[in-house]
Amino acid sequence: MRNKIGLNIHSGRINGDLELLKRDIRALAQAGFDVAEIPVHGVDAVVNGHLRVGRAKQVKEILNGFDLEYTVHAPDRLNLRDFQYPDVHRKVFAASIQFTAAIGAKTFVYHQGRLKSNDSDVTEEEAREIEVDELSDLGKLATSEGVTVCVENIHSSITHLMKLLESVGEESVKMCYDFAHSYINSKKFGYDFLRSVQLAKPYIRHAHVNDNFGKGKPESAPPYIEAMPLGIGDLHLPIGWGCIPYEDVFRAMAGYDGIYILELQERFFENGYSMLKGVLQDLREMLERVEAERVESAGQADG
Ligand SMILES: [Zn+2]
Repeated sequence: MRNKIGLNIHSGRINGDLELLKRDIRALAQAGFDVAEIPVHGVDAVVNGHLRVGRAKQVKEILNGFDLEYTVHAPDRLNLRDFQYPDVHRKVFAASIQFTAAIGAKTFVYHQGRLKSNDSDVTEEEAREIEVDELSDLGKLATSEGVTVCVENIHSSITHLMKLLESVGEESVKMCYDFAHSYINSKKFGYDFLRSVQLAKPYIRHAHVNDNFGKGKPESAPPYIEAMPLGIGDLHLPIGWGCIPYEDVFRAMAGYDGIYILELQERFFENGYSMLKGVLQDLREMLERVEAERVESAGQADG
C-alpha cells in the first residue's frame, strides 16, 4: 500500500496572496507531492467567523488547475477553550468546515483547544467538557458537509486526546497525529512515544510529519534563527534532520492508509523547489523501505 504524501501550504508565507498560493502549489505538484494542505487563515477565507463564499470559489478555481488532493488546516489560534470570545471561535470552526467542503476537501485539521491562564474562572475540567460538547455539535455539521474533523495533538499527551475523542464519540471527529509535537511532549511528560503511536492508531485519520530534537515546547520557541542552531522547539525540519525515529514510527503505523502531510517551516520553500523534491524522495524511500521489510517478514512468517 502506498500512502499519499502531502505538503503544507505555509500560512505566514502565503499571507493572503493567492498568486503565491498558486506558485507554491505548482511547485509542490512539480516536486511530486500528491496532496496540499490549505490553511483557512493563509488565504483570507474567513472574516469574523463568516466564510467569504466568493473567496472560497476563487481558491477552488486555483486548486482545480492542479491534479492534487486537498486537505484543510484551521487557523492556529482557533481554540474551543477560549472563553474571551467563545462565540466567534465556534463560528470560525463552522465556517472552516464549510470552507473545507467548498473547496472539495474532506479533512479539516484543528489543534486541540487550550485553556489560557487568564480565563481563570473556568476550570480545566469545565473547559474540557465545553470542548467535548462543541466538538460533538460541530461533528454533526461536519457529517452533513462530508468532512472529517481531525483534532491534532499539540500541547498535551496522546492519551489525553484519545480520551477527548472517546467523549466526543462522533464518527466525523477523529485524530490528526502530529509525530513532531508528540515526540517533544513525550520527552516533557515522560511517555513512551512509539507506544503512543500504537495506542492511537484506531483514532488516526490524518498525520503530520516533520523532524526536531525533542527539546522545548511545541507551542513556543525562541525566534527560529536562534532556535535552529540550538535545536530547540518544534522546528518543522525535513525528516532525517532531527532525531525522531521515523522508521519505527512507520513500522508502528503499518496498515494506516491515510495521508502523511509533511509540515515544513517556510524557509524550506525558498532556494528553489529542488529541495522539496529531495525531501519528498527521502520520505517516500523511507516509507517504501519499511513497507518492503514488513512484506518480507510477513512472507517469512507464512513460509
Ligand atoms: Zn501539525
